Amino acid sequence: MGEFELIRQYFTATSYPTDVLLGVGDDAAVLAVPPGERLVAAVDTIVEGVHFPVGSPAADIAWRALAVNLSDMAAMGATPRWFTLSLCLPQARTAWLTEFATTLDELARQFGVSLVGGDTVRGPLNVSIQILGTVENNRWLTRSGAHVGDVVYVSGMPGEAAGGLQLLLKPAISANAADRQHLIARFTRPSPRVALGRGLRSLANAAMDVSDGLLTDLSKLCAASQVGARLHLDALPMSPSLSSTFGMKEAEHHVLHGGDDYELLFTIAPDRVQELEHCIKSCGVLCTAIGEIVPQGGVQCYRAGQPVTVAGTGFDHFADVPAPNPGGE
Ligand code: ADP
Ligand code: MG
Repeated sequence: MGEFELIRQYFTATSYPTDVLLGVGDDAAVLAVPPGERLVAAVDTIVEGVHFPVGSPAADIAWRALAVNLSDMAAMGATPRWFTLSLCLPQARTAWLTEFATTLDELARQFGVSLVGGDTVRGPLNVSIQILGTVENNRWLTRSGAHVGDVVYVSGMPGEAAGGLQLLLKPAISANAADRQHLIARFTRPSPRVALGRGLRSLANAAMDVSDGLLTDLSKLCAASQVGARLHLDALPMSPSLSSTFGMKEAEHHVLHGGDDYELLFTIAPDRVQELEHCIKSCGVLCTAIGEIVPQGGVQCYRAGQPVTVAGTGFDHFADVPAPNPGGE
């Protein structure tokens, strides 16, 4: 199968929505940004052995590649609309490509995004997706808008993905079947919080998605906003599957430092918490208040009201210490 045939067979849509004026097949795509909206662009690359274990199913790779990009749109409060796909493959195997393209299409349909172009080359397995979305003028979310006194929230159950990755890498870890399946699915099939992000765009002062670990990412948000934060360890959402598989101590480590969750971390003025409750209910996503923004001092953890020091760090591709396992963007 040649490159042209591969693109035609797996990555060319039979029809596009009306905002795609020109899709796959020409030198570039032409897209219509709705009047009064701004274009929001992000790109994320995932590499075999770095972001997903060697030998991962094609379906999981496709899901992750698109989901992490959808999560970036969620963090901006944007509506994801279009994406391009740069696929670097060691070989063109029909079964692999069918599984990859089918799952990519499934997730794309779920979020209403269209594949409008890309590039296909031979080399070590990696997948890069650039996503394009739109947001009403001046209503995008940023990391830099947190105010002193804001309440800090996180969606979902951070740490579950890190637990799932541990179970994938070390199958000998004992876990009951339902917990194992649940945690692994949180790693292989992250749920981009697009609806929550849209709901937050007129509510939250600051937002970002958690890809490198809650503590590291909260520090980034604080740095961008030039503020500090208190993080209450007793308030952290604790996944029952995570605590029963790993025990409380290790589970808390995963909650604080595990990457790959793609949950939203956001801050909101205390007098808007009631409105947030409505938003949370309509999105059906658990959100938990975990701390508050203070004038300075980085992120300080508290347990039972007392400041404590926690061990460990989040994921950094270029840190001196080699990362023990894949994760993070
Ligand atoms: P060019 O030589 O101009 O880069 P290509 O032969 O690489 O063109 O691609 C032909 C068309 O197919 C372009 O419209 C390109 O966007 C699209 N395309 C190539 N690879 C992919 C892919 N993996 N997914 C979606 N579209 C792709
Ligand atoms: Mg090309």
